[in-house]
Amino acid sequence: MTDRNLALLQRARQLIPGGVNSPVRAFKAVGGTPRFVQRAQGAYFWDANGQRYIDYIGSWGPMILGHGHPAVLEAVQRAALDGFSFGAPTEREIELAEEIVKLLPSIEMLRLVSSGTEAGMSTIRLARGATGRSKIIKFEGCYHGHADALLVKAGSGLATFGHPTSAGVPPEVVQHTLVLEYNNVPQLEAAFAEHGPAIACLMIEPIAGNMNFVRASVPFMRRCRELCSQHGALLAFDEVMSGFRVALGGAQSLYAQHIPGFEPDLTVLGKVIGGGMPLAAFGGKRAVMEQLAPLGAVYQAGTLSGNPVATACGLATLKELQRPGFFEALGARTRSLVQGLSAAANAAGVPFCTDSEGGMFGFFLLDQLPQNYATVLRTDSASFNHFFHAMLDRGVYFAPALYEAGFVSAAHTEADVQATVDAARAVWAGAHTPS
Ligand SMILES: *Cc1c(COP(=O)(O)O)cnc(C)c1O
Repeated sequence: MTDRNLALLQRARQLIPGGVNSPVRAFKAVGGTPRFVQRAQGAYFWDANGQRYIDYIGSWGPMILGHGHPAVLEAVQRAALDGFSFGAPTEREIELAEEIVKLLPSIEMLRLVSSGTEAGMSTIRLARGATGRSKIIKFEGCYHGHADALLVKAGSGLATFGHPTSAGVPPEVVQHTLVLEYNNVPQLEAAFAEHGPAIACLMIEPIAGNMNFVRASVPFMRRCRELCSQHGALLAFDEVMSGFRVALGGAQSLYAQHIPGFEPDLTVLGKVIGGGMPLAAFGGKRAVMEQLAPLGAVYQAGTLSGNPVATACGLATLKELQRPGFFEALGARTRSLVQGLSAAANAAGVPFCTDSEGGMFGFFLLDQLPQNYATVLRTDSASFNHFFHAMLDRGVYFAPALYEAGFVSAAHTEADVQATVDAARAVWAGAHTPS
């Protein structure tokens, strides 16, 4: 049989660098041939060979309802008939803003954009403009999109200003980006003690999904909030992944259960709010948001921002999430998956630990849950890659890198979960079941 995925990869490579339009799709970390998707429905997609996969990526988070949800499809089709893009305001943008503000009380005003990168980048500019300060704090292992100032890793000693992680980013562009270790309170305190008056904002993924799945501890988050308030820096939550994914109120609602009155100053959203269409947002306190053009001096704009088809898709998606019991059911299904995988690993004597929240999960071939990026990287990549490919052969599509989170949608059934767990048991038992 000819492998159409391979044929497509070879064709794509002639025209598109690496054959892909976003690097993680290339399977560079795990090796092998990326699957070219032909179509998707519910919890599954089919590749160019017609093989079906249970999809645990869901477009890296947006497809929380599964693929092709009827209500979303209908909203998108109806919106498309009325026009694709106008470059002028529409009522639907207000409706989406009202919906987001209702569900995330820390947001009083927001602006819609087209990607998480754009939203994160604009948040940094806004925080700098609003505070009149230059420095920003980010944490190693957190991803906030590919804007220059955020493509930075820790220097030789941590708590130094970092080094660019990409060619083409001049060192001067990251000289104001302080990179700290996630969940490290003493280092955070030291950074504020030294640089406090110069810090515009601290940006954090509260539940990090770009170093697999690592939560900020409650004491750590409490110190982030206290130190930002004390030093006049803005606390910016990057909930592009966790927003409307871990809970209806995002990760911020979970921290608010443990820290009375807890709120971030700014929130970055993306992924789920577009339901699979290019849509993202950033928002927060009115006084800060009013610094944006045309009211204020911080410039930010976009030809396709608030796109009418994308807002229809996002609105329909957010409506479905608010059905009673939605997150309880999603969380239970996700727990069933990770507990099943955990039991299968334990039975086979494979080191394994896992965590999940709502429809987002992580698993590690480690004995202990990591608290930061350095410990995530202790995973044996050869074991992970073997597991990834063996599952793929059995029709289960997990993220093709050990430092990515996974996603369960409302379309995943208990039968899908059981099929996944059975496949994992077979892989770890070394049993050879033909795919
Ligand atoms: C995906 C992601 C981004 C970037 O969003 P894009 O739409 O890919 O530009 C930013 N922050 C977090 C936490 C993300 O997961």
